[in-house]
Amino acid sequence: MPETVGVLSLQGDFERHLVALDRIGVPGREVRTVADLDECSRLIIPGGESTTLGILLRRCGLDQAIPERARAGMPIWGTCMGLILLAKEVEGSDQWTLGLLDVTVRRNAFGRQVYSFETDLTIRGLERPFHAVFIRAPIVTRLGVGVEPIAEHEGKVVAVRSGKMLGTAFHPELTEDSRVHELFLNL
Ligand code: GLN
Repeated sequence: MPETVGVLSLQGDFERHLVALDRIGVPGREVRTVADLDECSRLIIPGGESTTLGILLRRCGLDQAIPERARAGMPIWGTCMGLILLAKEVEGSDQWTLGLLDVTVRRNAFGRQVYSFETDLTIRGLERPFHAVFIRAPIVTRLGVGVEPIAEHEGKVVAVRSGKMLGTAFHPELTEDSRVHELFLNL
């Protein structure tokens, strides 16, 4: 299949991911149905509201289709809410997730005071620091077997990789720097 990167577009910050893909010349596609997903070789789950998206996914059957594609080897990247949706466990909550990445996350982990912030992050695999935008971001509080932390902020894990899964607590689609998109395309 020729490379087409699906961006889950039921809710949230999907448009900026499509713009970022366009900037690096990779075909992107909005994913709203199982049929859309079938046209894609990779999937990005953007930022948004994880409880809302969970409900929408179950309504259109993507709650089953995404794990099936993941088991068949499809690379998946979750940014912010996307990371929460991929996680096996959400701290202090029994909210529904896809459970594809063996980590525990803490939602809104930087507190209500620090609603959002920007910082230069060192990310394993990238030569220069990456300017990262955090918006009500989660952190990873438990790493399962085979999950590699690839970035930390103030000692907290904010990016992970496991096989063909990538999770970032920040929003690379909100800056002009395409290096994390490229990192995903190289998984
Ligand atoms: N706080 C949101 C959630 O818990 C995630 C925020 C985001 O994706 N920017 O779902």
